[in-house]
Amino acid sequence: MSPRERDRRSQLAQLARGAGLLRGTLAIRKRVCGKPNCKCAKGEKHASLYLVASYEGCPRQLFIPKDWEPQVRRWVKQYQQVRKLLEEISLIYWDKVKKRQG
Ligand SMILES: [Zn+2]
Repeated sequence: MSPRERDRRSQLAQLARGAGLLRGTLAIRKRVCGKPNCKCAKGEKHASLYLVASYEGCPRQLFIPKDWEPQVRRWVKQYQQVRKLLEEISLIYWDKVKKRQG
């Protein structure tokens, strides 16, 4: 195993061991709450954070409360790191096949 592959695998193992992993994209949605006297009725809409992801082809979104935001951001980032590491490992194997180096 190359040092490069070993490094990617050890990072991957570390994340797989205990890190929260969450797939999705964070998006800010602006909305009006419906109360006639609220500032949002005058155009100053409420901004809320949502996690958007599709599962088995169905798009879904999940409201993220303010106090959950740092944790959710961390989980999403960790998921992306795992994905990136897997992709890098996959490319190593792609090259092995290409160069016929089992
Ligand atoms: Zn409002």
